[in-house]
Amino acid sequence: MDDPDLTLGIDLGGTKMAFAHVDARGEIVKHLMMPRPATAAEMETVPVEVAHSLLGPRVKAVGIGAAGLVDAEAGILVWGPNVEGREVRFREIFEAELGLPTVVDNDANVSGLAEARVGAARGYRHVCMITLGTGIGGAWIIDGRPYRGRGFAGEVGHIPVDVGGPRCTCGQRGCWETFASGRRLDQMARDLAAARPGGLVAKLALGESPAGRHLTRAATEGDPDAVVALQEVAMWLGVGIAGLVAAMDPEIVVVGGGVSEVGGLFLDAARDSFRDALEGSDHRDPTPIVCAALKEDAGVIGAGLHARESLL
Ligand SMILES: [Zn+2]
Repeated sequence: MDDPDLTLGIDLGGTKMAFAHVDARGEIVKHLMMPRPATAAEMETVPVEVAHSLLGPRVKAVGIGAAGLVDAEAGILVWGPNVEGREVRFREIFEAELGLPTVVDNDANVSGLAEARVGAARGYRHVCMITLGTGIGGAWIIDGRPYRGRGFAGEVGHIPVDVGGPRCTCGQRGCWETFASGRRLDQMARDLAAARPGGLVAKLALGESPAGRHLTRAATEGDPDAVVALQEVAMWLGVGIAGLVAAMDPEIVVVGGGVSEVGGLFLDAARDSFRDALEGSDHRDPTPIVCAALKEDAGVIGAGLHARESLL
């Protein structure tokens, strides 16, 4: 008989938060999504109130994946450039209010866990997960277990690739995500629309602020400027992945997040630059670079599975 116990998975991202009941196979039983809390005070109260309304007799534990630096051992969201709240003691708050054991981890870590357990990297022991959203998140599964280093491993978007490069939201200069992320695509879309007011990107934006989605759509429709811009971002993506593979040699690289859904052309271009940039790529087995399977549900599924593996 199937295990009837459920966990409550919570994904606290840079723009939205999602809640789901997750079963032992990583299937979502019930799902709820809403904008993320807008203030630090709400970060302490709103997620736990919503969670409270979603409890039931079968829910036995809570898992939270939060965007930012997370002290998983203490259950604290320490800081995130894209979320409100500092030193949010989620585990303490949830365990006191809900009376259920709670684990907290970085959102990319739980997404990586979900892809490794029930997604695109199922069956692999050494997995690198890259999440291309507003920025770039990363996670490592090593020997089948999430790898956190001292706690903050996986913040691959902030690997410096150009010390004289553009300022990053983290305060440093030239981080990888300033060259290859949703934010970079948004910037390119604005630049392209300004440079060519009659061009396809400007037309697709239709008076809205030009964004990455207009650029990627224009590229899919064959607009040469948009194709060049997208290829530049893909090139930086591939170069960054080459660095990660040189360091850790995973069996597979899974690319998730909104930007990865652009499609085959984008990932193909990234694979090409990856091969060009990787040390000795002619003399080693190719590393598969694949699209994530769980899309935007990876965070809640992973948070739910993490709670199950750690607490039940
Ligand atoms: Zn940075």
